[in-house]
Amino acid sequence: MSRSSRLIPGVVLLTAAACGLTAPLTSTRGCPDAEYPAADSSPYFVPFGVGTVLNIGLANCSSSYHAEGQPDQFATDFDLPTGTPFLAARPGVVSFVQEDQPSGGGGSSPLLVGNGVFVDHGDGTTALYLHSPENGIFVEEGDTVAVGDTLGIVGRSGLAGYPHLHFIVVADFSGYPYEGVPVSFRNASPRDVPLRTYSRYEVTPP
Ligand SMILES: [Zn+2]
Repeated sequence: MSRSSRLIPGVVLLTAAACGLTAPLTSTRGCPDAEYPAADSSPYFVPFGVGTVLNIGLANCSSSYHAEGQPDQFATDFDLPTGTPFLAARPGVVSFVQEDQPSGGGGSSPLLVGNGVFVDHGDGTTALYLHSPENGIFVEEGDTVAVGDTLGIVGRSGLAGYPHLHFIVVADFSGYPYEGVPVSFRNASPRDVPLRTYSRYEVTPP
């Protein structure tokens, strides 16, 4: 906990993905101005194994906590069954792990509602992978991870109405609300940028 406290001093991190709930707008920065890197040169790979069929829930700039202007406007929900392994989308160092919150939702941690793992990319951006079940993270703080390394499994802890991985990359992370970064994925088929809400994709070889 001391490491976490250094990371997020006194901040309540309500990283939400409370999909289906509504939240007030907190920013006027708009999605229409978002600039996405080309998929071909993106450093991000889909955080699931090759051949996985992805059902996307709320994607970027959609609704609820993913609505335009929300801290999670550039988040993507990967709707996959509880227990599905998720993988590092980009290399980095694990900067935060929480996995002691109840698998079915709720929780009492002052730092992060539900379970999750953060990966610091070393360029000022951090990826957040959220909603794992209790004990559903397989890496430790300080671990170096490569693309494709298994980080944990999908669940619905925290503010999640159903099992999914809430994935977002944020800039200069210091807690919630944070500044999300538009992300493209190299290996989704079809290769939409960004991935679209309520659409289906297959993970292709890198
Ligand atoms: Zn979400």
